[in-house]
Amino acid sequence: MSDTTPRFPRQPVLFCDFDGTITLSDNIVAVMKHFNPPGWENIVKDILSETKSIQQGVGEMFQLFPSSMKEEVTSYILNNAGIRAGFPELLDWCKRNDVPFYVTSGGIDFFIYPLLEPFGIPADHIYCNGSDFSGENITITWPHSCDEECDHGGCGMCKTAVIRRFPTDRYYRILIGDSVTDFAGAKLVDLVYSRSHLTDKCQELGLPHIPFDTFHDIIRHLEQGGRSE
Ligand SMILES: [Mg+2]
Ligand SMILES: [Zn+2]
Repeated sequence: MSDTTPRFPRQPVLFCDFDGTITLSDNIVAVMKHFNPPGWENIVKDILSETKSIQQGVGEMFQLFPSSMKEEVTSYILNNAGIRAGFPELLDWCKRNDVPFYVTSGGIDFFIYPLLEPFGIPADHIYCNGSDFSGENITITWPHSCDEECDHGGCGMCKTAVIRRFPTDRYYRILIGDSVTDFAGAKLVDLVYSRSHLTDKCQELGLPHIPFDTFHDIIRHLEQGGRSE
């Protein structure tokens, strides 16, 4: 370790959301807005107000699409998603500092894997939902759904289950995110880098958080030891 290595209270580990965090906007919302299948807006409203679980809502939204639209939906996302500035630099920073980086996403494999492909993140460091195009309509699958210890429930991809694999006495747990899929995880971690709805939620609940715009902001803060105050 050199003198320039930032000092953390414990081994840091990063859990980073995908939609609206690594990408500039939420890809699921973008697809719904673009193709506008009847009924999607009420489902999003219910998810954001937490009256419908994320798992149920996301499942219902994709059921609005016939499986035959797979190529169309996929290419719409791949052609329109932008990556937030500083993302490759943050991955480099993590490598240089031996900080594990996990993508913890409530999004879907068919667009996440292709969009992350250029960045060389190992597959076992990417947690997201799955998809099945073999039926009439697009069906979302849930390979990482809630464990018994999740008191939130219906997460779809359960971020708290992933976070709990890194015990708090050994790890300085850091979550990066922007919205409703991050709410449950934000309550568990030592520090949140937040945008958008997640900043409001952290303020409301008094959770330690640092609002950010680009990943460069996060690198700068990590360089100073990533303290919450
Ligand atoms: Mg998000
Ligand atoms: Zn859960």
